Amino acid sequence: MSEGKIPRVKLPPETRLDTLAVREGLPPSAWGENSEALFLTSSFVQPDAATAAARFANEEEAFIYSRFTNPTVTMMERRLAAMEGTSACIATSSGMSAILLLGMGLLKAGDHVICSQSVFGSTVMLFGREFGKFGVETSFVSQTDVAAWQAAVKPNTKLLFAESPTNPLTEVCDIRALSAIARDAGAWLAVDNCFCTPALQRPVEYGADLVIHSGTKYLDGQGRVIAGAICASEQIVNEKFVPVMRSAGMTLSPFNAWVVLKGLETLSIRMQAQSERALALAHWLEAQPGVERVFYPGLASHPQHALAMAQQRNSGGAVVSFIVGAKKGDAAAARKNAFHVIDSTEILSITANLGDTKTTITHPASTSHGRLSEDQRQAAGIVQGMVRVAVGLDDVEDIKADLLRGLGSP
Ligand SMILES: *Cc1c(COP(=O)(O)O)cnc(C)c1O
Repeated sequence: MSEGKIPRVKLPPETRLDTLAVREGLPPSAWGENSEALFLTSSFVQPDAATAAARFANEEEAFIYSRFTNPTVTMMERRLAAMEGTSACIATSSGMSAILLLGMGLLKAGDHVICSQSVFGSTVMLFGREFGKFGVETSFVSQTDVAAWQAAVKPNTKLLFAESPTNPLTEVCDIRALSAIARDAGAWLAVDNCFCTPALQRPVEYGADLVIHSGTKYLDGQGRVIAGAICASEQIVNEKFVPVMRSAGMTLSPFNAWVVLKGLETLSIRMQAQSERALALAHWLEAQPGVERVFYPGLASHPQHALAMAQQRNSGGAVVSFIVGAKKGDAAAARKNAFHVIDSTEILSITANLGDTKTTITHPASTSHGRLSEDQRQAAGIVQGMVRVAVGLDDVEDIKADLLRGLGSP
């Protein structure tokens, strides 16, 4: 980029996360708008043929065509990068296409990946099945067993991939320990930060090289759009991902970018409010006679409670899972009880999505994890009696009352 540069918002270097969340982006246009503009244009007019040539050759930074970049998308990328503490970000059409771009940008046939076995179901399919077709081999290991990650390292290991906390068991991995393994192996560490967002956890502070987002969840925050992103250094983004994006086009639409951009402005207060409600709900669930076990990193009973509190700014996040009991440990009866709790709600939304202001409730074994075999589900600990609640901004007393309708009357 020799000549022109896309200008930056003038902010003091010490500007903090909450301010970056409402200010970072691009300077306003000639009209001085205070709320960011939505640029619905597929292409950008060039002043002359020579400038167009320089810009297409990447000798000058400018907007050319919205498959590559668009001002509204750039605003979202800059804002999210600033919040994650990385020098760059590249937005994608979905969370899954962010992981697709990650693989296409970093991996080639003959490379090896180590991935947590507890990551999002479609991520398991993408690494295990789709990338496998192109000669990339993936070993799946326990989310929480650092020794298993170390033991899986091979000479051709190029990428470690984790997600923390996981869905629906809220297992927390030690990002710092995994980054040490990656560094020794000469591999990258990518962390899917969907559940915490930079409001609660910044994986690069613990040594991660790349942060993955499904913007669909808390970044939008109101269940409106599908979006994704990779945050990383400017060098990695420019060298590894920008060329793939230009050729492959898993681009985020300006409209969806604008929705996420405005969602980021309230991310921090939403995460705080939703996490507080989730903690109160988790404590209450632990005291319910119909509940066998509660999974929430903010509870002292959580196996990685101390690690989670250190890594996630003393917050457990907003997703709570629990197991409803069944007499004689009968799986069919447990499923019936879980369905009864879900179907007895009058307020909560029965949907597998999460990160919405509306509290959602789902049965992981038959929805998000329905494609697994019963053996795989048992190994992963996703039993038939499990119910997942992604706490939104509903009054927590209403959420408790809604769950009590089914829990109190089996
Ligand atoms: C939803 C989700 C994804 C995929 O994101 P989409 O935007 O639905 O493509 C990836 N990782 C995690 C942890 C998710 O919850």
